[in-house]
This record gives sequence, structure tokens and C-alpha cells, in this order.
Amino acid sequence: MCLMTPKIARFLADQQPATPCLVVDLSIVAEQYQALHKALPTGRIHYAVKANPASAILTCLHQLGSYFDIASPGEIDLCLQAGIPAAKLSFGHTVKTARSIAYAHQKGLTLFAFDCLEELEKLAQHAPGCSVFCRLGVLNTGAEWPLSRKFGTTVEHAFTLLTKAHALGLKPAGLSFHVGSQQTHIEAYAEAIAQAAELYHRLDKEQNITLDFINMGGGFPTYYRTPIPAIDQFGQAITTAMQTHFPRHAPQILLEPGRYMVGSAGIVQTEVVLASHRGNREDEPRWVYLDIGRFGGLAETEGEAIRYAFQTPYDKTSTHYSPCILAGPSCDSMDVLYEKNPVPLPDELKTGDKLIILSTGAYVSTYCSTGFNGFPPLKEYYL
Ligand SMILES: *Cc1c(COP(=O)(O)O)cnc(C)c1O
Repeated sequence: MCLMTPKIARFLADQQPATPCLVVDLSIVAEQYQALHKALPTGRIHYAVKANPASAILTCLHQLGSYFDIASPGEIDLCLQAGIPAAKLSFGHTVKTARSIAYAHQKGLTLFAFDCLEELEKLAQHAPGCSVFCRLGVLNTGAEWPLSRKFGTTVEHAFTLLTKAHALGLKPAGLSFHVGSQQTHIEAYAEAIAQAAELYHRLDKEQNITLDFINMGGGFPTYYRTPIPAIDQFGQAITTAMQTHFPRHAPQILLEPGRYMVGSAGIVQTEVVLASHRGNREDEPRWVYLDIGRFGGLAETEGEAIRYAFQTPYDKTSTHYSPCILAGPSCDSMDVLYEKNPVPLPDELKTGDKLIILSTGAYVSTYCSTGFNGFPPLKEYYL
């Protein structure tokens, strides 16, 4: 669930940090890791570093035995600095510069994703002999933050590419897919596994290529405002699908959770800069401007896709909530968080009040601009 933890509440009360700030409780990160591990005990977890690359999180997950999925030399460096060995890093991004491939290769990474011939040739040239996995394009139905279209290829083309990988001196090691982030349809994984299994068996039979793993990407959801299936349900569905499609020998399962691992572990404390029934229109929603917005880290409010939940100082006492339009503090009119889907907030809420935005541990801290309108980047605390 996405309640504020006692540790975070105590920190806010004792330290009175300046707003806006992100506060993450690392014990929740550890709990999430353990819960996923329990739901899929045979799955190897590669934490998707982009969700939150803070060194405290990397260290915490490293201690629990996690592997890591990175997308750039910068993320490689962050992991290596946290003491994570290169052998535990996978380069899961399908779009890489030749320079970053060479850098990863030089640092000792051996596992790389691709989804087209040109990228495969780049890998053969700049990371000779490495293990590769091909990303399939799968439906992202049910995902609130889709990751389709830009990535992935067809089963047919992946067959050709993985055969070619072999000829290029690379090791065809696996298949991957991503069912889309904040995926709430459990069935999405089974459908993708069916596609991957078909390809796995064809490569095995026709090319004598036996892949080591199927990488199921991330997508596992975080609780925001609406209920989500439990992680055990995802685990069950994946296990059942694997048993169905691989009755004898099954390839290893790799997982790349990002949002699931850290989303519910953090909160943002923000201040109401201004709350007004603009134009004295009592019949229209009140505008509430916060000191964090689209450019301060809440980029996933784009299209109102990710709908965060809020806590106010009046939640225990207020009897009257009215829908409010929420906006960020900048001079940009794009910097509106929720207008089509106004947020019910207590009528008592006023300028200067503190507000808590729940489940902001993932995809917030690094989505922050470096100083648009002179607002400093979000402060972060890891407890
Ligand atoms: C972003 C990303 C992930 C993490 O996705 P979540 O939905 O946050 O779990 C995993 N794998 C790849 C390749 C990604 O780009």
C-alpha cells in the first residue's frame, strides 16, 4: 500500500526539510525486492536503474543479491561506484551509441539487448563475443505508461536476427519484452510469454540455438489511487504460462522491475504556493499550485497518465472535499498536473499548507529539470 511509513513521518517532523523534497524509506525497497523474489523464486531480478538511480537504493538492492539493468555509461558508472560488479549488469537498452557499447565492453559488461540488424552489427563490432538478447514488440494493453512502438521487433524478424547473431560471433542468449510500465493486466505477461516461447522452440528446432533466458522486463505496478493486483498474482500467471509453454526444460526467467521496486518507497513533500478560486468563480474547480510540477520531477503526469494520491493536514478532520485543478509552480502553462481529472482536496487547504504526494519513489527524482525558471532540482533523502 502507499501509506507514509512511520520512519518517513518521523523524519519530516524532526527535520522539517525544505520543500519540495523526496523522502525514500529503504526498508520498503527491501520489502518489495523480497516480495517479488518470493512471487517468482526462480526469476533473476535486474533492477531497472532508471527508475531511481540513487546510490542508497543501488547499495540496498546489491546487498539483497539483485542484478541491475542499465541504459547508459552514466548508469554503468553509478553501479560500479556502488560496488556492483560488471558481471551483474545488463545493458537492456536497444538504442546505444557505438561509444557506450565500447565503454560497457571495456568495463566488463557481457550482456546486451538489441532489436534490429544495425544495432546487432554495432554490438558485433564494439563488444565482440558478447551475449545478446532480442527484444520483441508486444502489446502494451493495460499499461498506464506504455513502452511499445519505439522498441521491439516481430517474432519473425527476431528469428532471423538471433540466427545472424550466431554468425556474427555473438552468443544468442535470450529474448526480452516489456509489457508496458504500470501494467495492471496480469494476462499481458502470459500473452507475451506465448510469443517468446514460439520463437524459443523454433530457434531450438530449426537452428539448434538454445536460448538461456526469457527476460520479462518490468511493468509490475505501484499502488497510486486505484487498486492493483498483488505481485503474487503476477508471479502465478507467469509461472503458469512458463509451465504451459515449457513442459520439459524451461529457460531462466529474468525480470527488470523499476517502478515496482521503488515507487511505493518514497513520498514527495510539497507546499501549496497558491490556492484560489480564480476569477471568483465558486462554481469552477479551485486552482492549487504546488511547489513541484511537471518540470520538478512529476513528468509522468504527462497526459495525466500516472495519477498520484495526496495526503493533506486535514484528512482526519475535513468533512468537505472539492475537486481541484493541480498545477506546478513554473511560468509554463504546460505545467499542469491534473485538470481533466481534478483531485478532490479538503476545502480547508490553503496557501502555505504542506501536502504529501504518495508513491513517488520511481520516475521522479531524475525526471527533474536542472533549474527551469530558477527552481532548484528536487532534494532527496534516503532513510
Ligand atoms: C524502464 C524499463 C524497465 C522498468 O520498467 P518498469 O515498468 O518501471 O518496471 C525495464 N526494462 C527496460 C528495458 C526499461 O526500459
